[in-house]
Amino acid sequence: MPSQLFAENYLEKLSQCPYCSSGDLFFLLQASDRLGEKPGIFYLEKCRHCALVFQNPRVREENISFYYNIGPYAFLPLASKEEEKSGFWQQIQKRTLIEHFGYSTGKKNSLLYLLTFPFKRILKIKSFPDFKKQGNLLEIGCSNGDFLLQLKTLGWKVKGIEMAEASSDFGRNIRGLDIENKRIEECSFKNQEFDAIVLRMVLEHLYQPFDSLKEITAWLKKDGQLVFSIPYFNGFEFQLFKSYSYGLQLPTHITFFNKKIIKEVLENLGYQKIKFYHHFFERDIVASAEYKYQDLGKYWWKVIARNKAIRTFVIKPFVILLSLFGKTSRVTIYAQKN
Ligand SMILES: [Zn+2]
Repeated sequence: MPSQLFAENYLEKLSQCPYCSSGDLFFLLQASDRLGEKPGIFYLEKCRHCALVFQNPRVREENISFYYNIGPYAFLPLASKEEEKSGFWQQIQKRTLIEHFGYSTGKKNSLLYLLTFPFKRILKIKSFPDFKKQGNLLEIGCSNGDFLLQLKTLGWKVKGIEMAEASSDFGRNIRGLDIENKRIEECSFKNQEFDAIVLRMVLEHLYQPFDSLKEITAWLKKDGQLVFSIPYFNGFEFQLFKSYSYGLQLPTHITFFNKKIIKEVLENLGYQKIKFYHHFFERDIVASAEYKYQDLGKYWWKVIARNKAIRTFVIKPFVILLSLFGKTSRVTIYAQKN
Protein backbone atom coordinates (compact mmCIF):
# COMPACT_ATOMS: atom_id res chain seq x y z
CA MET A 1 0.00 0.00 0.00
CA PRO A 2 2.65 2.63 0.85
CA SER A 3 4.11 2.35 -2.66
CA GLN A 4 0.65 3.13 -3.96
CA LEU A 5 0.75 6.26 -1.83
CA PHE A 6 3.02 7.97 -4.26
CA ALA A 7 1.13 6.85 -7.31
CA GLU A 8 0.07 9.77 -9.41
CA ASN A 9 -3.62 9.35 -8.82
CA TYR A 10 -3.46 8.55 -5.11
CA LEU A 11 -4.31 12.12 -4.27
CA GLU A 12 -6.82 14.39 -5.95
CA LYS A 13 -6.44 18.14 -6.30
CA LEU A 14 -9.52 20.28 -5.94
CA SER A 15 -9.46 23.47 -7.99
CA GLN A 16 -12.44 24.99 -6.17
CA CYS A 17 -13.62 25.42 -2.60
CA PRO A 18 -16.06 22.57 -1.75
CA TYR A 19 -18.36 25.08 -0.06
CA CYS A 20 -18.45 28.30 -2.09
CA SER A 21 -16.77 27.10 -5.33
CA SER A 22 -14.26 29.94 -5.26
CA GLY A 23 -10.94 29.17 -6.94
CA ASP A 24 -9.07 31.56 -4.65
CA LEU A 25 -7.34 29.04 -2.39
CA PHE A 26 -4.06 29.27 -0.50
CA PHE A 27 -1.73 26.80 1.21
CA LEU A 28 -2.14 26.71 4.99
CA LEU A 29 0.02 23.92 6.39
CA GLN A 30 1.36 20.45 5.82
CA ALA A 31 1.52 17.60 8.31
CA SER A 32 2.12 13.89 8.59
CA ASP A 33 -0.26 11.23 9.89
CA ARG A 34 0.65 11.64 13.57
CA LEU A 35 -2.20 9.54 14.88
CA GLY A 36 -1.99 6.50 12.62
CA GLU A 37 1.71 6.94 11.78
CA LYS A 38 1.11 5.92 8.18
CA PRO A 39 3.46 7.31 5.51
CA GLY A 40 2.85 10.48 3.51
CA ILE A 41 2.62 14.23 3.82
CA PHE A 42 -0.81 15.85 3.75
CA TYR A 43 -1.90 19.39 3.02
CA LEU A 44 -4.50 21.87 4.17
CA GLU A 45 -5.67 24.77 2.08
CA LYS A 46 -7.96 27.63 2.97
CA CYS A 47 -10.51 29.43 0.85
CA ARG A 48 -9.93 33.21 0.73
CA HIS A 49 -13.59 33.80 0.03
CA CYS A 50 -15.42 31.76 2.74
CA ALA A 51 -12.49 30.72 4.99
CA LEU A 52 -13.26 26.99 4.77
CA VAL A 53 -10.17 24.90 5.59
CA PHE A 54 -9.86 21.57 3.80
CA GLN A 55 -7.41 18.89 2.76
CA ASN A 56 -6.07 19.73 -0.69
CA PRO A 57 -4.75 17.81 -2.49
CA ARG A 58 -6.63 15.13 -0.60
CA VAL A 59 -6.41 11.36 -0.44
CA ARG A 60 -8.96 9.97 -2.86
CA GLU A 61 -11.98 8.48 -1.16
CA GLU A 62 -11.26 4.98 -2.50
CA ASN A 63 -7.82 5.06 -0.83
CA ILE A 64 -8.75 6.46 2.57
CA SER A 65 -9.58 3.19 4.36
CA PHE A 66 -5.82 2.49 4.54
CA TYR A 67 -5.55 5.33 7.05
CA TYR A 68 -8.26 4.03 9.38
CA ASN A 69 -6.38 1.53 11.57
CA ILE A 70 -6.75 -2.01 10.22
CA GLY A 71 -9.05 -2.96 7.36
CA PRO A 72 -11.82 -0.86 5.91
CA TYR A 73 -12.69 1.77 8.51
CA ALA A 74 -12.07 -0.72 11.31
CA PHE A 75 -11.89 0.56 14.83
CA LEU A 76 -11.53 -2.18 17.38
CA PRO A 77 -14.50 -2.48 19.72
CA LEU A 78 -13.63 -1.03 23.09
CA ALA A 79 -15.22 -1.64 26.45
CA SER A 80 -17.86 0.88 27.36
CA LYS A 81 -16.31 4.00 28.81
CA GLU A 82 -19.48 4.70 30.74
CA GLU A 83 -19.24 1.40 32.60
CA GLU A 84 -15.97 2.59 34.13
CA LYS A 85 -17.51 5.78 35.50
CA SER A 86 -18.61 5.99 39.11
CA GLY A 87 -22.18 5.53 40.25
CA PHE A 88 -22.10 9.07 41.65
CA TRP A 89 -21.40 10.59 38.24
CA GLN A 90 -24.16 8.43 36.73
CA GLN A 91 -26.58 9.91 39.28
CA ILE A 92 -25.50 13.48 38.49
CA GLN A 93 -25.84 12.80 34.78
CA LYS A 94 -29.29 11.29 35.18
CA ARG A 95 -30.45 14.19 37.35
CA THR A 96 -29.06 16.76 34.89
CA LEU A 97 -30.91 15.06 32.04
CA ILE A 98 -34.15 15.14 34.01
CA GLU A 99 -33.78 18.78 35.04
CA HIS A 100 -32.39 20.25 31.82
CA PHE A 101 -33.05 17.89 28.88
CA GLY A 102 -36.64 16.80 29.52
CA TYR A 103 -35.76 13.23 30.50
CA SER A 104 -38.67 13.36 32.89
CA THR A 105 -38.66 9.93 34.40
CA GLY A 106 -38.29 11.74 37.72
CA LYS A 107 -40.03 14.73 39.23
CA LYS A 108 -38.47 18.15 38.67
CA ASN A 109 -37.03 19.98 41.62
CA SER A 110 -35.95 23.62 41.64
CA LEU A 111 -32.99 23.08 43.98
CA LEU A 112 -31.68 20.17 41.90
CA TYR A 113 -32.28 22.27 38.79
CA LEU A 114 -29.82 24.86 40.12
CA LEU A 115 -27.34 22.33 41.47
CA THR A 116 -27.13 20.44 38.19
CA PHE A 117 -26.86 23.60 36.08
CA PRO A 118 -23.03 23.42 35.77
CA PHE A 119 -23.31 19.86 34.40
CA LYS A 120 -25.75 20.87 31.68
CA ARG A 121 -22.85 22.18 29.64
CA ILE A 122 -20.91 18.91 29.98
CA LEU A 123 -23.86 16.89 28.71
CA LYS A 124 -24.39 19.35 25.85
CA ILE A 125 -20.76 18.82 24.87
CA LYS A 126 -21.38 15.07 25.05
CA SER A 127 -24.23 15.53 22.53
CA PHE A 128 -27.25 14.41 24.55
CA PRO A 129 -30.37 15.48 22.65
CA ASP A 130 -33.45 16.90 24.38
CA PHE A 131 -35.72 14.01 25.24
CA LYS A 132 -38.78 13.14 23.20
CA LYS A 133 -41.06 10.48 24.59
CA GLN A 134 -41.22 7.47 22.24
CA GLY A 135 -38.81 9.36 20.03
CA ASN A 136 -36.74 7.79 17.25
CA LEU A 137 -33.06 8.61 17.31
CA LEU A 138 -30.36 7.94 14.73
CA GLU A 139 -26.66 8.10 15.45
CA ILE A 140 -24.45 8.35 12.37
CA GLY A 141 -20.98 6.93 12.97
CA CYS A 142 -22.09 5.22 16.18
CA SER A 143 -18.96 3.06 16.51
CA ASN A 144 -19.68 0.10 18.82
CA GLY A 145 -22.86 1.65 20.15
CA ASP A 146 -21.58 3.04 23.46
CA PHE A 147 -23.67 6.20 23.26
CA LEU A 148 -26.67 4.48 21.65
CA LEU A 149 -26.82 2.03 24.53
CA GLN A 150 -26.97 4.90 27.03
CA LEU A 151 -29.67 6.67 25.02
CA LYS A 152 -31.68 3.46 24.72
CA THR A 153 -31.56 2.96 28.49
CA LEU A 154 -32.80 6.54 28.84
CA GLY A 155 -35.90 5.79 26.76
CA TRP A 156 -35.03 6.51 23.13
CA LYS A 157 -35.82 4.12 20.28
CA VAL A 158 -32.33 4.01 18.79
CA LYS A 159 -30.79 3.16 15.44
CA GLY A 160 -27.19 3.51 14.33
CA ILE A 161 -25.07 3.37 11.22
CA GLU A 162 -21.33 2.74 11.29
CA MET A 163 -18.76 2.26 8.50
CA ALA A 164 -16.34 0.18 10.60
CA GLU A 165 -17.46 -3.42 10.29
CA ALA A 166 -15.88 -4.68 13.54
CA SER A 167 -17.47 -1.91 15.58
CA SER A 168 -20.93 -2.23 14.04
CA ASP A 169 -20.82 -6.06 14.44
CA PHE A 170 -19.95 -5.63 18.12
CA GLY A 171 -22.78 -3.18 18.73
CA ARG A 172 -25.29 -5.37 16.91
CA ASN A 173 -24.26 -8.87 17.95
CA ILE A 174 -22.96 -8.35 21.49
CA ARG A 175 -25.13 -5.42 22.55
CA GLY A 176 -28.20 -6.25 20.52
CA LEU A 177 -28.50 -2.73 19.11
CA ASP A 178 -30.04 -1.85 15.74
CA ILE A 179 -26.80 -0.91 13.97
CA GLU A 180 -26.17 -1.24 10.26
CA ASN A 181 -22.74 -1.36 8.64
CA LYS A 182 -23.41 1.44 6.18
CA ARG A 183 -22.32 4.83 4.95
CA ILE A 184 -24.69 7.80 4.83
CA GLU A 185 -25.02 7.58 1.04
CA GLU A 186 -26.13 3.94 1.28
CA CYS A 187 -29.03 4.71 3.65
CA SER A 188 -32.61 4.92 2.52
CA PHE A 189 -34.44 6.22 5.57
CA LYS A 190 -37.88 7.69 5.13
CA ASN A 191 -38.35 11.43 5.11
CA GLN A 192 -39.07 12.69 8.61
CA GLU A 193 -38.30 9.35 10.26
CA PHE A 194 -36.31 10.65 13.25
CA ASP A 195 -36.87 13.00 16.17
CA ALA A 196 -33.15 13.40 16.74
CA ILE A 197 -30.01 12.73 14.72
CA VAL A 198 -26.57 12.72 16.34
CA LEU A 199 -23.11 12.77 14.69
CA ARG A 200 -20.16 12.94 17.07
CA MET A 201 -16.91 13.89 15.35
CA VAL A 202 -18.09 12.52 11.99
CA LEU A 203 -18.72 15.44 9.63
CA GLU A 204 -15.02 16.31 9.26
CA HIS A 205 -14.38 12.79 7.89
CA LEU A 206 -16.96 12.99 5.11
CA TYR A 207 -16.10 13.69 1.49
CA GLN A 208 -19.41 15.47 0.76
CA PRO A 209 -20.28 16.97 4.14
CA PHE A 210 -22.67 19.59 2.78
CA ASP A 211 -24.64 17.07 0.69
CA SER A 212 -24.72 14.71 3.66
CA LEU A 213 -26.13 17.42 5.93
CA LYS A 214 -28.86 18.05 3.38
CA GLU A 215 -29.72 14.35 3.22
CA ILE A 216 -29.71 13.98 7.01
CA THR A 217 -32.04 16.97 7.32
CA ALA A 218 -34.63 15.22 5.14
CA TRP A 219 -34.67 12.27 7.58
CA LEU A 220 -35.39 14.57 10.51
CA LYS A 221 -38.94 15.39 11.59
CA LYS A 222 -40.21 18.96 11.85
CA ASP A 223 -38.96 20.33 15.18
CA GLY A 224 -36.45 17.45 15.22
CA GLN A 225 -33.06 18.08 16.75
CA LEU A 226 -29.72 17.78 14.98
CA VAL A 227 -26.71 17.43 17.29
CA PHE A 228 -23.18 17.16 15.96
CA SER A 229 -19.62 17.81 17.07
CA ILE A 230 -16.68 18.87 14.92
CA PRO A 231 -13.13 20.17 15.27
CA TYR A 232 -13.06 23.97 15.19
CA PHE A 233 -10.03 25.28 13.33
CA ASN A 234 -10.24 28.83 14.72
CA GLY A 235 -9.85 27.42 18.21
CA PHE A 236 -6.85 28.21 20.42
CA GLU A 237 -5.18 24.78 20.21
CA PHE A 238 -5.18 24.73 16.39
CA GLN A 239 -3.92 28.30 16.23
CA LEU A 240 -1.12 27.60 18.74
CA PHE A 241 0.04 24.18 17.56
CA LYS A 242 -0.81 24.40 13.83
CA SER A 243 0.69 21.34 12.09
CA TYR A 244 1.42 19.78 15.50
CA SER A 245 -2.24 19.93 16.55
CA TYR A 246 -3.61 16.67 17.94
CA GLY A 247 -7.00 17.47 16.44
CA LEU A 248 -5.61 17.75 12.91
CA GLN A 249 -5.68 13.98 12.30
CA LEU A 250 -4.73 14.09 8.67
CA PRO A 251 -5.51 12.54 6.29
CA THR A 252 -8.78 11.20 7.75
CA HIS A 253 -10.06 14.70 8.53
CA ILE A 254 -11.13 16.17 5.21
CA THR A 255 -12.82 19.44 6.18
CA PHE A 256 -12.48 21.98 9.02
CA PHE A 257 -15.54 24.18 9.32
CA ASN A 258 -15.94 27.61 10.82
CA LYS A 259 -18.97 28.92 12.70
CA LYS A 260 -20.08 31.30 9.96
CA ILE A 261 -20.27 28.48 7.42
CA ILE A 262 -22.00 26.08 9.84
CA LYS A 263 -24.56 28.71 10.74
CA GLU A 264 -25.19 29.62 7.10
CA VAL A 265 -25.54 25.98 6.00
CA LEU A 266 -27.94 25.16 8.84
CA GLU A 267 -30.05 28.26 8.28
CA ASN A 268 -30.27 27.51 4.56
CA LEU A 269 -31.44 23.98 5.41
CA GLY A 270 -34.18 25.47 7.57
CA TYR A 271 -32.75 25.10 11.05
CA GLN A 272 -33.25 27.50 13.93
CA LYS A 273 -32.04 27.78 17.55
CA ILE A 274 -28.44 27.07 16.46
CA LYS A 275 -26.17 26.85 19.49
CA PHE A 276 -22.46 26.13 19.92
CA TYR A 277 -20.94 24.42 22.98
CA HIS A 278 -17.17 24.40 23.16
CA HIS A 279 -15.42 21.36 24.61
CA PHE A 280 -12.75 21.50 27.28
CA PHE A 281 -10.54 18.65 26.21
CA GLU A 282 -7.06 19.18 27.65
CA ARG A 283 -5.71 16.36 25.48
CA ASP A 284 -5.77 18.84 22.57
CA ILE A 285 -3.00 20.73 24.40
CA VAL A 286 -1.24 17.79 26.09
CA ALA A 287 -1.00 15.54 23.03
CA SER A 288 -0.05 18.45 20.74
CA ALA A 289 2.73 19.42 23.19
CA GLU A 290 3.95 15.82 23.07
CA TYR A 291 4.21 16.02 19.26
CA LYS A 292 6.18 19.27 19.63
CA TYR A 293 8.46 17.74 22.24
CA GLN A 294 9.13 14.70 20.07
CA ASP A 295 10.15 16.93 17.15
CA LEU A 296 11.77 19.92 18.86
CA GLY A 297 12.81 18.52 22.25
CA LYS A 298 12.16 21.71 24.20
CA TYR A 299 11.88 21.29 28.00
CA TRP A 300 8.62 23.22 28.35
CA TRP A 301 6.79 21.11 25.79
CA LYS A 302 7.80 18.06 27.82
CA VAL A 303 6.41 19.60 31.02
CA ILE A 304 3.11 20.48 29.33
CA ALA A 305 2.90 17.07 27.72
CA ARG A 306 3.83 14.87 30.65
CA ASN A 307 3.52 16.60 34.04
CA LYS A 308 0.32 15.38 35.69
CA ALA A 309 0.07 18.26 38.18
CA ILE A 310 0.42 20.85 35.39
CA ARG A 311 -2.25 19.01 33.45
CA THR A 312 -4.70 18.94 36.36
CA PHE A 313 -4.09 22.34 37.96
CA VAL A 314 -3.05 24.50 35.02
CA ILE A 315 -4.14 23.09 31.68
CA LYS A 316 -7.54 21.75 32.71
CA PRO A 317 -8.73 25.03 34.33
CA PHE A 318 -7.27 26.93 31.38
CA VAL A 319 -9.22 24.94 28.77
CA ILE A 320 -12.41 25.23 30.84
CA LEU A 321 -11.97 29.01 30.79
CA LEU A 322 -11.22 28.96 27.05
CA SER A 323 -14.34 26.92 26.38
CA LEU A 324 -16.52 29.39 28.28
CA PHE A 325 -15.24 32.08 25.92
CA GLY A 326 -15.85 29.87 22.88
CA LYS A 327 -12.18 29.51 22.03
CA THR A 328 -11.36 25.78 22.19
CA SER A 329 -10.84 23.62 19.11
CA ARG A 330 -13.84 21.28 19.38
CA VAL A 331 -17.48 22.23 19.41
CA THR A 332 -20.89 20.55 19.67
CA ILE A 333 -23.68 22.18 17.70
CA TYR A 334 -27.42 21.96 18.40
CA ALA A 335 -30.04 22.96 15.85
CA GLN A 336 -33.78 22.49 15.50
CA LYS A 337 -35.42 21.83 12.16
CA ASN A 338 -38.18 24.28 11.25
ZN1 LIG B 1 -14.94 28.93 -0.09
